[in-house]
Amino acid sequence: MDGTVRPERLAEGLYLISLGASNVYVWESDGFVSVVDTGVPGSEHAILGALSAIGHTAENVAEIVLTHFHRDHTGSAAELACRTGARIVAHHADAAIIERREAPPPPRLTDLERPLAEMLLGDVANLPGPQPEAVRVDRLVEDGELTMGGGQIVTIPGHTYGSIGVLLPQRAALFTGDSIASVDSAPVLGPFNLNTADAIAAVRKQAQLNFDIACVGHGRPIVGNASRKVLAMIRSF
Ligand SMILES: [Zn+2]
Ligand SMILES: [Zn+2]
Repeated sequence: MDGTVRPERLAEGLYLISLGASNVYVWESDGFVSVVDTGVPGSEHAILGALSAIGHTAENVAEIVLTHFHRDHTGSAAELACRTGARIVAHHADAAIIERREAPPPPRLTDLERPLAEMLLGDVANLPGPQPEAVRVDRLVEDGELTMGGGQIVTIPGHTYGSIGVLLPQRAALFTGDSIASVDSAPVLGPFNLNTADAIAAVRKQAQLNFDIACVGHGRPIVGNASRKVLAMIRSF
């Protein structure tokens, strides 16, 4: 083992880079790649190493879509933007936090979530804790807009106010950020939401889309009939 994170191919030109705590995804277009999320601070070497394992240089990265401001998704965005020259894409409601012009709102933990938060995040009394290095958001996106690589933005406020998903119709894949997670390869509502009712509505919105693969922020991607599985999950709410 040389320590390189091997990307896992999910579909033609679509890869998971599993960083353990959180997931990064990559999709290929003609001559460039798009990256979804960047892991915790210090993940840039793992991400660039994984890209090189599938034949891509840093210069190939054209855009980095940030699904929301949380540090396990934006942690390495500044370093990656610097090394690749890629454009950072995010929703305006989270952009001010990503650029560190505004302080992040602390998560509202439910009683059920508190023990999980203590295990995963440590000092829950002092959340959200240290924030990653600021990075400039080059492009603010709204619902329905297309990214450079043809990803369709789906606004899904709830987990954070500026949470976005990305639908890739050509690969029947949806990047869900933390609106949906998975446990034992089954979809679950993502934890630590700013507004639980909105978070549930956001999952309902995504369940109306047609996708075979759900690229979740945490847990294994849901592969095969993913939109139907998400619909079945959210019907139980
Ligand atoms: Zn999150
Ligand atoms: Zn997360």
